[in-house]
Amino acid sequence: MYFYNKLKKKFLFLIKKDTIFFMAQYKTHSTFNIFLALPLFLWAILYFFHPHLNLLITFASCFIYATLFMNPDLDVANKIKLFSLRGLLTLPFRGYSLIFRHRGLSHSFIFGTTTRVLWLGGFFYGILFALDKPFFKKNELLAILQSDYFLYGFSAIVLADFCHLILDFKHKK
Ligand SMILES: [Zn+2]
Repeated sequence: MYFYNKLKKKFLFLIKKDTIFFMAQYKTHSTFNIFLALPLFLWAILYFFHPHLNLLITFASCFIYATLFMNPDLDVANKIKLFSLRGLLTLPFRGYSLIFRHRGLSHSFIFGTTTRVLWLGGFFYGILFALDKPFFKKNELLAILQSDYFLYGFSAIVLADFCHLILDFKHKK
């Protein structure tokens, strides 16, 4: 009994430490992305491409969403408290974290991002399927994929993940 209690105590301590570690990283990643990287990217895009305001807003919102709720660390999404804002907004990825090992595939450049975009797309497609709603036609889907909105949105997610990877890399060294 004594050993059991000791073991439990040790285990709880480990989990707690783990959670705190991820939280600290989460804060660092979010602050770096949103307050340093995002303004720089917005400035660069404005300067080089002069896009329509709507495209800039698309970029910024996708970047922020990707940073907060769709980042490479969602491979540990099941560690997030379920009944919280963050828990609800990362709900689609709880299954994702069961399949993708931490700092594995989800932490690869562009490919990791693609797995999450496809995962989220598949999640909503699954809901539409369950509700028996009419599906996209093939050319409608192609039109979306070829639009500037998709280009800006997807680039934003790739860049947000890229900043995450840089910080992770620095952290590991
Ligand atoms: Zn990470």
